[in-house]
Amino acid sequence: MTARTHDTAALLALISYVIVVPPGKMTLATGLAAVLANQLGGIAPDIDQPTAPLWRNIPIGRYFGRIFGALVGGHRFFCHSILGVAVFGALSMLLLQFLQPIMPNIDINFVWVAFLTGVVSHLIMDSLTKEGVPWLLPIPYKFGFPPIRSWRVTTGKWVENIIILPGLIALTTWLCATNYTTLADLIQRQLIK
Ligand SMILES: [Zn+2]
Repeated sequence: MTARTHDTAALLALISYVIVVPPGKMTLATGLAAVLANQLGGIAPDIDQPTAPLWRNIPIGRYFGRIFGALVGGHRFFCHSILGVAVFGALSMLLLQFLQPIMPNIDINFVWVAFLTGVVSHLIMDSLTKEGVPWLLPIPYKFGFPPIRSWRVTTGKWVENIIILPGLIALTTWLCATNYTTLADLIQRQLIK
């Protein structure tokens, strides 16, 4: 899937999570940091390819990207598995704990959950593509949905652009509209705090 689809899916996943498990009191800073972390999480697994936004945006990044990709076994390997999610989870928590002193108004636990929601949504979306995802590494089998490979999506092609992405946007809008009170309440609490 393209980064645009992943970002939309990550936001949809975060909104769904907030609706199902409403977080407690939250500062505006926490809310903003959570959305940012969620969007980063939504594209984080693709740092295993040299064309990832991270590598494209730093000097000689593609070079580092190629080395990093080789270290983690290439595209759609370690970073696209449950083991990879665990490592993303551990490293991001370490980083958040390190940053906590300079951002005292931010609930790092919620930001962390938002980041991981993005990462997991990435793997789910990639499972809909022809290549599939090696969820259960070290078992090197790539799982996909639907199980019949030819029924799955080709990244960047019309099914993604005309059905999946607009579908995700429509679903996100619908969720926001039908849960307006819950979401508005959350924002209100943020502003009061
Ligand atoms: Zn991916």
